[in-house]
Amino acid sequence: MTRTAELSRALTGLSERIESASRAAGRDPAEIRLLPVTKFFPASDIALLYELGRREFGESREQEAAGKVADLGQLSEVRWHMIGRLQRNKAKSVARWAYAVHSVDSERLAAALDAGTAAAREAGLRDTPLRVLLQVSLDSDPSRGGVAPHDLPRLADQVAETEHLELAGLMAIPPLGADPEPEFARLAKLHERLRIDHPEATELSAGMSGDLEAAIRHGSTCVRVGTALMGTRPITSG
Ligand SMILES: *Cc1c(COP(=O)(O)O)cnc(C)c1O
Repeated sequence: MTRTAELSRALTGLSERIESASRAAGRDPAEIRLLPVTKFFPASDIALLYELGRREFGESREQEAAGKVADLGQLSEVRWHMIGRLQRNKAKSVARWAYAVHSVDSERLAAALDAGTAAAREAGLRDTPLRVLLQVSLDSDPSRGGVAPHDLPRLADQVAETEHLELAGLMAIPPLGADPEPEFARLAKLHERLRIDHPEATELSAGMSGDLEAAIRHGSTCVRVGTALMGTRPITSG
């Protein structure tokens, strides 16, 4: 089987999973976007996914992503999503290529992205605000990233007040080994509460290859899928 046929078959399988999970949850499948996560896979795979009609891609490491964005610069209308942990010193670079960042978890990072987006706009490298999803920590492990739930309202207000960032919603990853169901239920409550103050923050980035059904049951609007689409990654991810 060619790589295109492999990817095409995986896309069909994922559409079916998303569709049946949506129906089971009484939701319209059109409310849920599939975000292919292409980290550790070559730019040539992204080009094939583009030919298959995909226009949004998720990457988790700044340097790797920037390289692919440069390689694929001729593809029009692509939206790149930064979904992995982000150091403040990479904010400026990310602001040049990212449509959205799903992993904003501190005021300092938000401020750096705001400044980076301002600079990118001034340099003519982008003409839109940067969409920002706040990553919420569902465990208390700071090494995995995410803002603690009690600090979320303040961070949301701060992002909403910036000039160049657009508060789009929330993202979370369930704790390793945990049953995702109660975790996504908790996340859905946090999202509901956030939208009282920030009704524009409609996105909920939740669910991956192994737990997208549970995430869809709890309001996900974007499932980030790597393994179930691309195959097993050559190296484990960070
Ligand atoms: C790698 C990654 C994914 C994709 O995970 P799979 O289990 O391979 O689908 C989703 N979200 C984030 C933040 C990731 O780093």
